[in-house]
Amino acid sequence: MRVVWNREGLNLVEHHSVIIVGGGPGGLGVAATLEGWHPHFVGGYSFPSQEVQQFAQQHENNPLAFDPHELLKRRHRPIEFFRMRHHPIQDAIPPDEWTLKFSKHRRADWLMLTTDGPGGLWNNVPREQMTLGPAHWMELAHYPIGRFFKQTGRNRDLNALVHRDDLVPYYQAYAEELGLNDHIRTGIRVTSIEPADDDNDARFIVSSIDQNSEAPTTYSCDYVVFGVGPRSALRKLDAQGIDQDYVSDAYTHPDDYPGDRVLVIGGGRSADWAAQELHDVGHTVVYVMRQQADVHLKLINDSQHLPYYRRWGEILTGDQARMGLLYGSKVTAFESGGLVSITTPEGVTQIQIDHAVIEIGGDPDYQLLNSFGELTFHAKRDNFRFQINQMVVDQATFESVDIPGLYPAGYAAQGTGLSVIGFHAGCFLIAGDILRRTGLV
Ligand SMILES: Cc1cc2nc3c(=O)[nH]c(=O)nc-3n(C[C@H](O)[C@H](O)[C@H](O)COP(=O)(O)OP(=O)(O)OC[C@H]3O[C@@H](n4cnc5c(N)ncnc54)[C@H](O)[C@@H]3O)c2cc1C
Repeated sequence: MRVVWNREGLNLVEHHSVIIVGGGPGGLGVAATLEGWHPHFVGGYSFPSQEVQQFAQQHENNPLAFDPHELLKRRHRPIEFFRMRHHPIQDAIPPDEWTLKFSKHRRADWLMLTTDGPGGLWNNVPREQMTLGPAHWMELAHYPIGRFFKQTGRNRDLNALVHRDDLVPYYQAYAEELGLNDHIRTGIRVTSIEPADDDNDARFIVSSIDQNSEAPTTYSCDYVVFGVGPRSALRKLDAQGIDQDYVSDAYTHPDDYPGDRVLVIGGGRSADWAAQELHDVGHTVVYVMRQQADVHLKLINDSQHLPYYRRWGEILTGDQARMGLLYGSKVTAFESGGLVSITTPEGVTQIQIDHAVIEIGGDPDYQLLNSFGELTFHAKRDNFRFQINQMVVDQATFESVDIPGLYPAGYAAQGTGLSVIGFHAGCFLIAGDILRRTGLV
């Protein structure tokens, strides 16, 4: 416990060297590395450039210890340095052939505060949700998903998509196997992250509430890992009557919608999933999106490697008797009894429905950082309609350029792709920087 000054005056707060906000794949990878699971390279690995290869061999026993700016000087992106060892080829490699290994070292003093348990948003996706990419792309290197499948008697293909019922237990087992659970507090919502007053030893004050008891707790820390994920601030639909009881703001399972006619509002992958699943169990679906038909059809065409997009192809080339698509359209009002007003390119129309599902995505909750003033963002867009404002970071350490000591994890950091395979290796840059600064590596 430490005594700190904050807005309320003199306070006793719990101090930790590092506070990790968010228990998704982004936060978990940093937690395991800070817990002391440090990577090293073994065997016959190879990097594309001879210069980087020599550098890697020189540091292979402790790649967290060197300053990754050295890699930038050699024109090699530090995040790629680790990603290439974890995923040197497209397909999964059996765990015993990995050239990336881990050994246990002293732990740093870290604490994770998170609303959901390990696995982050995967705890709340639709009950039948599959991943968009293969199992081994979703894994965190410290505990291979192949080992988890084997240990739990799951006979699964590492190169196939994963069901969330396999993925969430994997992230839970990851926390258990690596000894993280004693330092993870779930059901805790962080409400603000602020600079500590100059009189304090710590750098940050983190305020939180317990989601059950609503009891507030204040922490102080020297480093923050900001892993709140891409949907921590859900977008709000600008329409009247949004609180009608037939309107839900997240899709879970067809059983939750006993009536026949369901309106789905969205246009991204989550809305596509909901509309299709509802349609395929026999509902009549009206699917409203603001984008034009050509944008949606391009996503469907470009995603034919995924089973549910192949199914979209079949629905669109079929008779579409129970799937009404309204492109370039906007829901403006929900009235009692399921009457909904929609503005379409042909004019305003009203339809009668039993349920409405809003799946319009969200953004990282950057409001938590409001007290740091304006932040510098990089507008990241991908071909599959994921879009996010990423915090601009030092590409060697992933430390925010605006907030020293704060590290966005997951794809809230510039320089990652928009997937777990794209951002996971960032955990070694973040934890490596903290471990070097605290003398633990
Ligand atoms: C339907 C769907 C399918 C997807 N499919 C794929 C896929 O196939 N492959 C892929 O790579 N990615 C996929 N994604 C992207 C997904 O974002 C990543 O898989 C991954 O979950 C991101 O990890 P994260 O740690 O950054 O964030 P999250 O998983 O969102 O975890 C962040 C966690 O932070 C916590 N949190 C948020 N705000 C606070 C707060 N104020 N206080 C305390 N805790 C807080 C919550 O517990 C939250 O769950 C998909 C996403 C969705 C919605």
